[in-house]
Amino acid sequence: MSNSLKINVVTIPEEGLNFNFSEDGKWLEECFQDIDRNDFILRKVDVQCKITKASSAIYIQGGISVRLGIGCSRCLEDANILVEGDFSYTLVPVKPEKEEDVELQAEELEISYYSGDLIDLTPIICEQIILQIPIKPLCSEECKGLCPQCGTNMNVASCNCRSEFVDPRLAVLKNIKIKNN
Ligand SMILES: [Zn+2]
Ligand SMILES: [Zn+2]
Repeated sequence: MSNSLKINVVTIPEEGLNFNFSEDGKWLEECFQDIDRNDFILRKVDVQCKITKASSAIYIQGGISVRLGIGCSRCLEDANILVEGDFSYTLVPVKPEKEEDVELQAEELEISYYSGDLIDLTPIICEQIILQIPIKPLCSEECKGLCPQCGTNMNVASCNCRSEFVDPRLAVLKNIKIKNN
């Protein structure tokens, strides 16, 4: 894995460091080797962030966009989608002493830790990618999905089930008609 994602905190200038990162599916495959999910294919990730330092605390703020292949939750076809989001992290050096206090504080303030002089952005980016993956992905907002009766993909074909489908509200009207006859 490339070392370009390791930031030496000593070299972060007063005005902060702009960090741009763009990788394709090949890099991401390597990055996600350990993650036990096979329901998506990562195609591209773009990250733009600013890294600033205040004494020993490091702040990372930025945006991420992820292009991925994933099954549409309505029509089940492969969908190519682009998801975007913002993120921010606060990292402080690990302090072995008073560990319990630090842990409690960290939980409250959502702080992460770094040790030594290097911050590795890889786990942060991997985490953000996972967080961006939608629970119910759609190939398009207008996806018509599958016919609940015959399974035809309504985006590309039509079926004859529609005439047999009776809305419960219409069913009531149907009964009324029958009585009148
Ligand atoms: Zn769809
Ligand atoms: Zn049908």
